[in-house]
Amino acid sequence: MGLKLFNTFSGKVEDFKPLGEVVRIYSCGLTVQSAPHIGHMRAYMVRDVLVRWLVHLGYKVKTLENFTDIDDKIIEKQKEQKRDWRIIAEENIAKYLDACDKLNIKRADFYPRASQHIEEIIELVNKLIEKGFAYEKGGDVYFKVRSFGNYGKLSKKNIDDLVSGARCVPTEHKDDPLDFALWKAAKSGEPYWDSPWGKGRPGWHIECSAMSMHYLGETFDIHTGGEDLIFPHHENEIAQSVAGTGKEFARYWLHNGWVTLSGEKMAKSTGHYFLIEDVLKDYRPNIIRLYLLKTQYRHQIEFSRERLNEAKAAYLRIQTYIHGFENLPETTEPLKLKEFTEAMDDDINTPMALGIIFDLIKQGYEKESLDIAASVMFYLNILGFAQDKPEQPIDEVMEVLREVKAQLKPEKSTLLNAAAQDLWNQLESIKSSNEFFPNIVNVLLNMRNRLRKEKDYKLADFIRERLAQKGIQIFDKGDVSTFRVEAK
Ligand SMILES: [Zn+2]
Repeated sequence: MGLKLFNTFSGKVEDFKPLGEVVRIYSCGLTVQSAPHIGHMRAYMVRDVLVRWLVHLGYKVKTLENFTDIDDKIIEKQKEQKRDWRIIAEENIAKYLDACDKLNIKRADFYPRASQHIEEIIELVNKLIEKGFAYEKGGDVYFKVRSFGNYGKLSKKNIDDLVSGARCVPTEHKDDPLDFALWKAAKSGEPYWDSPWGKGRPGWHIECSAMSMHYLGETFDIHTGGEDLIFPHHENEIAQSVAGTGKEFARYWLHNGWVTLSGEKMAKSTGHYFLIEDVLKDYRPNIIRLYLLKTQYRHQIEFSRERLNEAKAAYLRIQTYIHGFENLPETTEPLKLKEFTEAMDDDINTPMALGIIFDLIKQGYEKESLDIAASVMFYLNILGFAQDKPEQPIDEVMEVLREVKAQLKPEKSTLLNAAAQDLWNQLESIKSSNEFFPNIVNVLLNMRNRLRKEKDYKLADFIRERLAQKGIQIFDKGDVSTFRVEAK
C-alpha cells in the first residue's frame, strides 16, 4: 500500500513520494516568549512519530524547526520584564528542548533562530520587491496579496471573503488591507537590523520561507504545524515562497489538531493552557506520549486529568508486561507487522497502531511468549516510547534478603551457606551499579533455586511469597527463573 498522508493543500489523502533520497521536513517552531504548553508539544510529537515511521520505512530524513525569537510578543516581554529579548528567548528555547528530551522527541537536525537569518530574509524580501510582489512604504515592506493568483488555496479561502474580514491597523501603511508585513520599521527602543528600507525587523511569516529554503532547498517534501497556522501563516509562507522562486514550495502540508481545554484551543495569549513542565511533574513522559498518540494527529484532543489518568492506567499495563523483557534481542520479524504497517501507513493512524500493541499484550498475558514480547518492544520503540523502568522497591527486596539470610541454618548445608556467602559478596560488589535492583532480585532467585535443589522447599517458598507481597512476581521455566515488578 505504501505511506499515505493527508495533504491539507489538496484536501486529500495522497501517496507519499519524496522528491529525492532524503525526506526534507520543515516544522514551524515556537515563538519563544514563554515556556511551551502541552498543545505546543503535540505538534512536535506528531513530527517525531512521523520521522520515526519514515526511518522505519527506510528513508533518510532531514528535519528543520525554527524559533521565532524576534517578534511583537517577545518585545513586549522585554519591556515587561526589563530583560534583553535574547535572554528571554534562549531561556524558553532551553525549556522547550528540555521538554523534548524528556518526552523522547527526537531533536530536529537544525534549530535556526529568525534573528540569525536576517540576511536571507532581506534577500528574499528584495527579490519579492524586484518581481513586483511586494512594496516598501514608510520603512515597512508589504506583500501584495492580490498579485499572487493562488492566494487562499491552502486554507480554501477566496479573496472576496477575506476582504470583508481584513482590517487596517492605523500604524501600518498598507495599500490594501489584505497585504501583510514582510519587514517592519523599528519603533523607538525596539531591537532592529539595518536593511535597504531602514532600521527594522522581519515580519513573522517571511522567516519560515527564508529559513526553510536556506536549509532544505526551494522545494521540499513535508511542512508540518498546528492547524491554527493554516491561515494566515502558512498561506502567507506559500505566497512569499512561490512568488519568490516561481517553484512549488512544500509538497505535503500536514496539520495537527489542537489540544483543547473546555473545547477551546490552548493558548498562551488567553492564559488558557497547561505548561508541559507542570504536566511532566504529575505524569511520566511515556504516559503523556500515550495520551497524545491515542488520538490520530489530525483530530483535536480535549485536555483532562481524567484522560491522562486513563492513559496512566493503560501505560502501567504496558510497563508491567514488558518489564523483564528489556534486554531481548531486537526482532526482525515482529508479529502483526502487516496490520501495524497498514495502520501507520494510513496517515499515521497511531490509535490503531496502539490497539495492535494492546492486542499483543493481551495475548502475552495469556501465554508467555518471547515473540510477543519482542514484537511489543519493537512497536513501542517505533512509536517513540523510551524504555523506563518501573518503580524499583529496593528497600523491600533488601528486607526479604535479610530475612532469608537470618533463616539459613549453618548446620544444614555447608554447600548452601557457601553459596549464600558467595551471593552476599556478589551483592557487595554490585551495590554501586545501575543494575543493582535486578541483581539483588536475581541473588534471591539464585538462592531459591539452590534451596529447591537442596529440597528446602519451605525457605524457597518463603522467598517467593515474600517477593510477591512486595509486588515482585516470579516465573519459573525449568531451571530458569525470571521476575516482573507488578505496576502499582
Ligand atoms: Zn512557519
